Amino acid sequence: VGDCWLVGAEGGPAATSARKATLTPRPPSSHADNTNKFICEALDHLDLPPAMRRLLLAPQREVSVQLTIQRDNGELATYHAYRVQHDNSRGPYKGGLRFAPEVDIDDVRSLASLMTWKTAVMDIPFGGGKGGISVDPKALSQRELEVLTRKLVQALRPVLGPHTDIPAPDMNTGAREMAWFFDEYSKTAGFTPGIVTGKPLWLHGSLGREAATGRGTVFAIRELLRAQGAGGIAGKTFVIQGFGNVGSWAARILHEQGGHVVAVADALGATSAEAGLDVPALVQHLAAGGSLAAFPGGTPIPKDSILTVPCHVLIPAAVGGVITEANAGALQCQVVAEAANGPITPEGDAVLRRRGIPVLPDIYCNGGGVTVSYFEWVQNLQNYRWTEEEVNAKLDRVMTDAFRGIWELAAAEQLALRTAAFVIALQRVAQARANRGFD
Ligand code: GLU
Repeated sequence: VGDCWLVGAEGGPAATSARKATLTPRPPSSHADNTNKFICEALDHLDLPPAMRRLLLAPQREVSVQLTIQRDNGELATYHAYRVQHDNSRGPYKGGLRFAPEVDIDDVRSLASLMTWKTAVMDIPFGGGKGGISVDPKALSQRELEVLTRKLVQALRPVLGPHTDIPAPDMNTGAREMAWFFDEYSKTAGFTPGIVTGKPLWLHGSLGREAATGRGTVFAIRELLRAQGAGGIAGKTFVIQGFGNVGSWAARILHEQGGHVVAVADALGATSAEAGLDVPALVQHLAAGGSLAAFPGGTPIPKDSILTVPCHVLIPAAVGGVITEANAGALQCQVVAEAANGPITPEGDAVLRRRGIPVLPDIYCNGGGVTVSYFEWVQNLQNYRWTEEEVNAKLDRVMTDAFRGIWELAAAEQLALRTAAFVIALQRVAQARANRGFD
């Protein structure tokens, strides 16, 4: 972990100047370094002893496993997989599983830490964890993916449980993988729907879970616009990078509410329309196998230009680290809503602060997903089902209450929204940990 870890923990100024004195170029920041920089900035607003700072930064447990499957062609293939359990002071570890080639321990460590702060700032009774397999799921058949998912459950079995660690969907995983996960776990533990969230509706999933992260992002934007006295979603323009679960649901809901989604990009291409894209038609076009660039209702644009398309609200909803020192100066938006995890580097964030562009931070902005995961888990424990209206109304309440806390602290202490969100989250986790004790 990075500099702030040394300063925040026991290295102190000596460790920092020793590093500076070497004059050797530093390697590019890792994901965990970046997350810890944000945390350390917030820690400086809290009066916590060094040992507590160290404890809050370090993951409690990291599990690394190798999964071997037989490919359809008969050959054996081995994949690295991880589960990082960052903190369980406030409740069981909670967080998604991503299947992607770029998954590594550093990435998962940073994402696990973000989950701890996300559940804390949303004030839902979970800790934080994250997992993943370093694999390109598009290169595997459905059978191969199923076997790989089941192997993951077998390998992580000793550290999981509906009151210990509860995974969920993340990048390239969804209800299908969660159903396999639930089934594999239940083979040995007995019927246990509460082991994982984001399950199919007909298998103890929750109404509203699939759309929850996108819907939560829209609630977050609505609250910020309201607080700024800038009106509502209707009539505003939005640009979305990423059209997976989060980006596509955010687009649909913004469109429903009269917002104009003027440009959208995915990993393959991008499309734009100044008066706003017909989002339902776009979703249909993609479902029929079309590409964004070939959408007849829009003009294709280079996907790399998406971040600089003029709009009221820019929504990065894809991968981490896309807004950096190099491009933050070129953004032409009034607000950034971090629907992805970690889309802005600390250096990019500093540029946006200088430019006075407010950022709805990931740990709050995309917290709707884990919030409805919590609702799903509660329904599973009760063997009961809520209506979609109930779920959405409860989500609205959680997003609105969390926003109020962040906004008020930011205003009172003159903090960026991100710093305020981290201060609230750190305080809650530190308090819970201190109250539980250390023996
Ligand atoms: N993967 C989602 C996130 O990053 C959801 C996690 C969950 O529902 O536990 O917040």
